[in-house]
Amino acid sequence: MRISLKLSRIKPSATLAMNAKAQELKAQGVSVISLAVGEPDFPTPAHVKAAAVAALDADFTRYTPVPGIPELRDAVGGYFGRFYGVTPPREAVIVSNGGKQALFNLFTSLLNPGEEVLIPAPYWVSYPDMTILAGGVPVPVPTDPEDDFLVSVEALDKACSPNSRVLVLNSPSNPTGCCYTREQLDAIMEWAVSRNIFVISDEIYDQLVYAPSEPASCVGWWQKHPENVAVVNGLAKSFAMTGWRIGYCVAHPDLIKAQSKIQGQSTSNVCSFAQKGAVAALTGSYDCVAEMRAAFKRRRDLAMEVVSTWEGVRCPNPGGAFYLFPDVSARYNAATPDSTTLCTRILEEAKVALVPGAAFGDDRCVRFSYAVDDNTLLAALEAVGKVLKS
Ligand code: PLP
Repeated sequence: MRISLKLSRIKPSATLAMNAKAQELKAQGVSVISLAVGEPDFPTPAHVKAAAVAALDADFTRYTPVPGIPELRDAVGGYFGRFYGVTPPREAVIVSNGGKQALFNLFTSLLNPGEEVLIPAPYWVSYPDMTILAGGVPVPVPTDPEDDFLVSVEALDKACSPNSRVLVLNSPSNPTGCCYTREQLDAIMEWAVSRNIFVISDEIYDQLVYAPSEPASCVGWWQKHPENVAVVNGLAKSFAMTGWRIGYCVAHPDLIKAQSKIQGQSTSNVCSFAQKGAVAALTGSYDCVAEMRAAFKRRRDLAMEVVSTWEGVRCPNPGGAFYLFPDVSARYNAATPDSTTLCTRILEEAKVALVPGAAFGDDRCVRFSYAVDDNTLLAALEAVGKVLKS
């Protein structure tokens, strides 16, 4: 089969691959705990499901406008107004098939061949591959666990070249869970804007931030510098709606039109009745989100309590999302010299699926998702701890 050359540099998603391996073992009757996948274990809130069912019953099942139904675009504007005091108008909002499509649209709309994208590492697996698919060049900017894996202006300055076009920020981060403070974010944004580097701020975990950390959005920077900033978010993580495929982007209206053009020639609109559910989520009560946030915080604390007892393992206490990203490299040896061999060994011996840090651009670490119930989490950590000790 002849496949386009550009795909030869694209990796399949490592998180999905590890989960598939765990499912395979499960199918063979082996009891496996998967901490590999990045999705909440809660059901979608009842009022959101009811709104989608009502839309189906009302035959709201036709094509909708490509960038989303007007009431959802307005609800997205309202979301930013409610939490961050900036209400982007309808023409500055597009609704996409998950945050993933919003990001893909952005890379495709912004990049010319050879232009570079600064990607603080560890990074979410899809940023480099999306950059390559859009003809750009990913430039990872390394960070360290001692700095909570947060990138500094100095490191960005060093990595920057005349070809740098885009910087991707992701706070809270997948895979580290770490969050930038308002001040840190402002310093980076000031630097980027002064160098005319476009910032894509992926804020998909902004509702999952645990006090004393505080959510910080770049939407205020978008308001001040609409030609330099785009904000991506979605309902997958905050409302336990991963399968609904609802993401959105706030950007300059011309950039929204460009993204709409891509969607119009590829996927068209997001599922009509899913959009109605999304309106209910964004405009309704956020009590359900607060409950999930409290559960994730409790699990984060449980997991940190165990991980911090592992000798030689360094793990920042993350302020958000539902991941831990410990540096386990002190446990590497001749038989398990990297994160991939270690994760394979953990899967075989502890029957726990994790994702190798190599997939996120940091081979010192492994990623745990704590989006599972407390008992499962503790059982998995105990089993992993034993393997690390041995
Ligand atoms: N951005 C980050 C950092 C993510 O972790 C994910 C999903 O794992 C996404 C974007 C995409 O989310 P969605 O399911 O809305 O496409």
